[in-house]
Amino acid sequence: MDPTDAIAAQLIDGLRAQLPKVGFRLDGIEVQVGALLELDVEGLRQSLLRALGGIEVKLLVEPAMLHCEDCGADYPADEHPCPVCGSGRASLRSGEELSITRAWGETVPTRSV
Ligand SMILES: [Zn+2]
Repeated sequence: MDPTDAIAAQLIDGLRAQLPKVGFRLDGIEVQVGALLELDVEGLRQSLLRALGGIEVKLLVEPAMLHCEDCGADYPADEHPCPVCGSGRASLRSGEELSITRAWGETVPTRSV
């Protein structure tokens, strides 16, 4: 089992909780992955594809962004310290996300029993 399989399973559990149990065919998902998580993005894509079958899987890597505590600017983490005012006081604004940001599919007619 790949280490990304567990992450994929967790994401899918969360998604299934939000989707109709029957009468819906999932066609694709979009997953946001924070760069700071240093995940194996391609491995995660493979795990999601294995778990969900042949749907479309889009992975967006969200770059790490810092928020300057002194001037309020948001800037990429690799430009630290603050490129606007030079301050080293910053908090993390993004880069640790891991979520399914979009899911699409089609409502399909359900057969009556
Ligand atoms: Zn600043």
